[in-house]
Amino acid sequence: MEFCPKCGMRLVLSRKAANKNVLVCPKCDYRKTINKEELTPQKVVNRSTQEQIAVIGEEEAKINTMPTVKIECPKCSHNEAYWWMVQTRGADESPTQFFRCTKCSYTWREMA
Ligand SMILES: [Zn+2]
Ligand SMILES: [Zn+2]
Repeated sequence: MEFCPKCGMRLVLSRKAANKNVLVCPKCDYRKTINKEELTPQKVVNRSTQEQIAVIGEEEAKINTMPTVKIECPKCSHNEAYWWMVQTRGADESPTQFFRCTKCSYTWREMA
């Protein structure tokens, strides 16, 4: 949306040329010619959701949104588990990886 620089009225689109648009002021006679490309809204950039895997605690873990990995459950030997990372207290330490069996919900941490 653009406004008239002279009187502040909202400019109205008035098509005149094939590949150009003309904006005209309904109050005074101001007009502005613009390329059509400038009217096209910018494309929304799709950010990869893979980059946004949140570090979540075990308590607030949202099971249905968590990624899964092929790993054997130590309890029931099922071969798929949800996984997430938890940052331990020391900021220097690397985060601990947790797994939760998709079948029996047994939860265990990765043994480094
Ligand atoms: Zn005007
Ligand atoms: Zn299991």
